[in-house]
Amino acid sequence: MNKTTDIVVIGAGIAGTSAAAALADCCKVTVLDQESHPGYHATGRSAATWAPFYGPPIIQQLTALSLPLLATPDAMFSGSAFTSPKGEMMLGLPGDEAEIEKQLALGMQRLTMEDARQLVPLIKQDSVASVLYTDNMLDIDVDSLHQAYIRHLKRCQGNLICNARVNALSKLGDKWQVETEHHTYEADIIINAAGAWADCIAQLAGITPLGVQPKRRTAALVPFIESANMAQWPMVFGVGERFYCTPFGNGLMVSPADETPVEPHDAWPADIDVAGGIDEFQKYIDYDVTRVEHQWAGLRTFTPDGDPAVGFAAEAEGFFWLAGQGGYGIQTSPAMAAICRFLIAEDAPSNHLFPAIDKQVVDLLNPSRFC
Ligand SMILES: Cc1cc2nc3c(=O)[nH]c(=O)nc-3n(C[C@H](O)[C@H](O)[C@H](O)COP(=O)(O)OP(=O)(O)OC[C@H]3O[C@@H](n4cnc5c(N)ncnc54)[C@H](O)[C@@H]3O)c2cc1C
Repeated sequence: MNKTTDIVVIGAGIAGTSAAAALADCCKVTVLDQESHPGYHATGRSAATWAPFYGPPIIQQLTALSLPLLATPDAMFSGSAFTSPKGEMMLGLPGDEAEIEKQLALGMQRLTMEDARQLVPLIKQDSVASVLYTDNMLDIDVDSLHQAYIRHLKRCQGNLICNARVNALSKLGDKWQVETEHHTYEADIIINAAGAWADCIAQLAGITPLGVQPKRRTAALVPFIESANMAQWPMVFGVGERFYCTPFGNGLMVSPADETPVEPHDAWPADIDVAGGIDEFQKYIDYDVTRVEHQWAGLRTFTPDGDPAVGFAAEAEGFFWLAGQGGYGIQTSPAMAAICRFLIAEDAPSNHLFPAIDKQVVDLLNPSRFC
């Protein structure tokens, strides 16, 4: 049975659902995902932070543009903020002075060991040589944000369909035919928001892949030590992102900050990466980890130059890339979604829920830079 819509979005992670939400008041939008629920892949596996100085310059710009929707959303979109305050602490070992100086120049403040241990009482004072701190990071309630995008999509009569793996893409006249097991969807525009599978979707459509690379990142959840007030800890990094840890629900998430190139797949953690992360963590933090409550891995997907690719493919009308969000797809989702609207619904009145976008920013993300 054929179903007709203006736009089919492939992928119901944070990228696809935010883009769909930004477009749904002016186009008929259907989001398809291969899994039984949205957010099963990278979106459901993140560290859930908003970090203003993380990533390349364009990411920092998109992160800043995204803050109003995340921290002070319109009441129609959400009754409460998606963010809550969180500090960021960086720990340096002897020999890390050059990097420490760089971070000081970027605005982090030096803390005495005494002050640092007020915040993180388990810092190993015999090993850690320097401590930097800033309070400009935020936690993001990713599930609430993702659900708010989906709610808004549905409020505007858009559809989200799970268990709908896209198996084939073709053009019949000026319409895309999007084939899943049970239905064929007919659309003017396809938004490729398939995360780690973005190049696979391009290949289905006969479009040249961009060369996106999924990279595995691992996390382990260790129990809180109640006496160390861990639920209130800032996010703690080793200089050079050798590891990080952060309060995460009922435990402390510890990550080796690994970036292992892999094929797109349902990622799982390698024992050696979990052990390596905990080992590194224990060089800085006086916590003898004897139990891991939960461990997981997710794929952070990068374009060849590290900046996202957002925009129409030059080769085929109506094929739109929304790919390469790397390790920043949650914190930049409002701005990325706004760019989709800017390019796809240019004649529609602006959508006040999403940030206003400057054309210069849009141009920097044009996927044709890889052609
Ligand atoms: C450990 C870790 C920590 C992170 N921490 C942060 C952080 O603190 N802050 C931040 O902003 N970002 C963070 N990220 C990055 C962030 O999670 C990603 O950038 C973001 O989730 C990417 O969203 P997406 O929608 O592009 O991808 P996904 O969430 O992977 O969604 C893609 C969807 O496409 C679907 N799909 C693929 N192929 C098909 C097909 N053929 N048919 C139908 N559906 C298909 C998949 O099922 C999937 O649901 C982190 C990532 C990891 C792994």
